[in-house]
Amino acid sequence: MYRGRLAPTPTGRLHLGHARTFWLAQARARAAGADAQLVMRIEDIDAARCKPEYTAAALEDLHWLGLRWDEGPDVGGPYAPYEQSKRREIYLDVWRQLRDGGFIYPCARSRADVQRAAQAPHSEEEDAEPLYPVEWRPAVGTGKDAESPGAVAANWRFRVPDGEAIKFNDALQGPQTFVAGKDFGDFLVWRRDDVPAYELAVTADDHAMEITEVVRGADLLRSTARQILIYRALGWTPPAWCHTPLLLDENGKRLAKRNDALSLGKMREQGTEAGKLIAGWQ
Ligand code: GLU
Repeated sequence: MYRGRLAPTPTGRLHLGHARTFWLAQARARAAGADAQLVMRIEDIDAARCKPEYTAAALEDLHWLGLRWDEGPDVGGPYAPYEQSKRREIYLDVWRQLRDGGFIYPCARSRADVQRAAQAPHSEEEDAEPLYPVEWRPAVGTGKDAESPGAVAANWRFRVPDGEAIKFNDALQGPQTFVAGKDFGDFLVWRRDDVPAYELAVTADDHAMEITEVVRGADLLRSTARQILIYRALGWTPPAWCHTPLLLDENGKRLAKRNDALSLGKMREQGTEAGKLIAGWQ
C-alpha cells in the first residue's frame, strides 16, 4: 500500500514552490490507488527557527489549496505526535544504533571550521555542503562510549564510504549517482546544540511512518544519497524517490521563504483562486 507524506518546515509561510511539490505528492498518492495514504508531518526539529504560528499557517494554506491527508495534525491541532519536536526518543534510538554500529563519530570542529577548510567548489544547491576534510576524521571507534549525543560537546557526523557511488532511481529525474567523499562528505546526524540533524530525523521518520514514496523538491537530491547510507547502516529498505523540479522566480533564482511575493498567504490575501494555481500543475 502506498504511503506518502507532506513534510513542511514551519520557518516561514509556504510559497508556490512548496505548494506545487505538496500538490504533486497528493496527486501521486491518489494515482496509486484508493487505499493510498498521505501523512502530514511537521518538521519543526529546529526550535530556534520554527514557530507554531507558521505550523498553523502551513496547515491552513494547504487546506485552502485543497490538500487533505489521512494522518497527522489538521487545522486547529492538536499536532503531536507528528511534530518532529515531539519525537526525540525515536531519533535518539536511531542515534544509538548508528553509534553502536560505528557509523558515526563526534567532532568538535564547527560547521564554520569545515567551511573554511573545504576547497571543494561551493554549489548553489541547498543540500550541497562543503566537504568535511577526511584528515579530521577521528579513529574508528571514537564516540562508542558516549551515552548520549549531548554528552560530548561536538557535532556527530556519519562516516561516508569514500569513493563509493550511491545510485538511485528517481521517478521524475531518472537515474541519479552521487559519489561519497566527492559530491558529499561526512554529514551531520546530530548537532552540537543537541538537536538531531535533518538527515537523521527525516530518515527515522520516513521509516517509522512506513512511507513507501518520498515526494519532495529537487533541492534534496543529494540528501537522498546521504539518507540511503543511513538506511543501509540500519538495515532498512529505503522508500521510492520522486523529486519535483524547483520553481524559479523571474530572475531564475529559487523561490525562498524570505521572498514574500509568492507566499501562499499573500496570494490568498490578494484573492488568488486555489483552483487557478492548481490548474497549471495538472
Ligand atoms: N521539510 C523539508 C522542507 O520543507 C522537506 C524535507 C523532506 O521532504 O524530506 O523543505
